[in-house]
Amino acid sequence: MKVPFVDLKAQYLSIKPQIDAAIQKALEETSFIGGHYVETFSKQFASAYGVEHCKPVGNGTDAIYIVLKMLGIGAGDEVITVANSWISTSETITQTGAKPVFVDIEPLHYTIDPSKIEEKVTSRTKAIIPVHLYGHPADMDAIMAIARKYNLFVIEDCAQAHFSRYKGQNTGIIGIAGTFSFYPGKNLGAYGDAGCIITNNAELAKKCSMFANHGALVKHQHQMEGINSRLDSMQAAILSIKLPYLNAWTEARIKNAQLYNILLKESALVLPAVTEDVRHTFHLYVVRSKRRDQLQQYLKTKGIETAIHYPTILPLLPAYSYLSYKPEDFPVAYAFQQEILSLPMYPELTHEAISYVSNMIEAFENENSVK
Ligand SMILES: *Cc1c(COP(=O)(O)O)cnc(C)c1O
Repeated sequence: MKVPFVDLKAQYLSIKPQIDAAIQKALEETSFIGGHYVETFSKQFASAYGVEHCKPVGNGTDAIYIVLKMLGIGAGDEVITVANSWISTSETITQTGAKPVFVDIEPLHYTIDPSKIEEKVTSRTKAIIPVHLYGHPADMDAIMAIARKYNLFVIEDCAQAHFSRYKGQNTGIIGIAGTFSFYPGKNLGAYGDAGCIITNNAELAKKCSMFANHGALVKHQHQMEGINSRLDSMQAAILSIKLPYLNAWTEARIKNAQLYNILLKESALVLPAVTEDVRHTFHLYVVRSKRRDQLQQYLKTKGIETAIHYPTILPLLPAYSYLSYKPEDFPVAYAFQQEILSLPMYPELTHEAISYVSNMIEAFENENSVK
């Protein structure tokens, strides 16, 4: 049996007539940039999310950069973020001229460890970017308490956490802004690059719109210099078709995770832990193994595709060698980077496939007497 890591085609085929019609219609209208598709999707997303403003942008990386810039963050400032994430979270800090300051992860949910944030706060600190990694919300109460104490902005990186919930609230509306990616493989994925910013702050929303569109809300009236980061109409039309299905897709991910949990219960793997009072949307189903590389290799020979998120924690990447961080600065994240493994996860994943993956993990453990 072959089990891919993700299967975007299965999802496309399940809604093909609607998607094809939407693309054809946008094409015939020669609606390519901006226009009613983008307007409609933004409203639809804001209303589904229960937030005042949704500003579509070109991708999830720009979404973070734009928010940081429009909050006035730049040279001389520091922004605290988490050691284990995709590089967008930290490279956007650098793009503004500010310095990224990394904090270790907490061992249960792999999100930023709030108990290690305060020691990193200096007089230059302006903001914290928690990442709701893999779909599990970061510990927002603790983070917001620190932010209030030191008067810091909190920008939630929700690229992996569409409609995740923390104590009844959707992630992304707890801090000043939430940023989303609609990269094809994300829980809500376009058919190209796409992203958005959500906020209840009208002033920030307006500035973000302006900056993303060359600093002009009205054509030719540039209030400032900006960038070109727009959601194109075709992507917006596709996202509008897909959004109504997202809840069912997310529930399917959660069910798949539950099935893995049951079938892998007796294995030697450390399974994902979910705190009470949150909705983990399982963008990724990440386990830990002391023999990760061997296990990954074994699964590959059985036709099972897995991945690692992420093989090297951000502060130890060559890109950040100038900051001179050491592995000992991030004991948890560093230890886990050798152990984490993302198993196949997508809504259309079948029970047979999950059983097969689980059986192959059991076979690996038996053959290698792992237990
Ligand atoms: C995907 C991702 C991003 C960036 O999104 P793009 O749309 O690819 O630019 C940012 N942060 C995290 C945590 C991500 O997973």
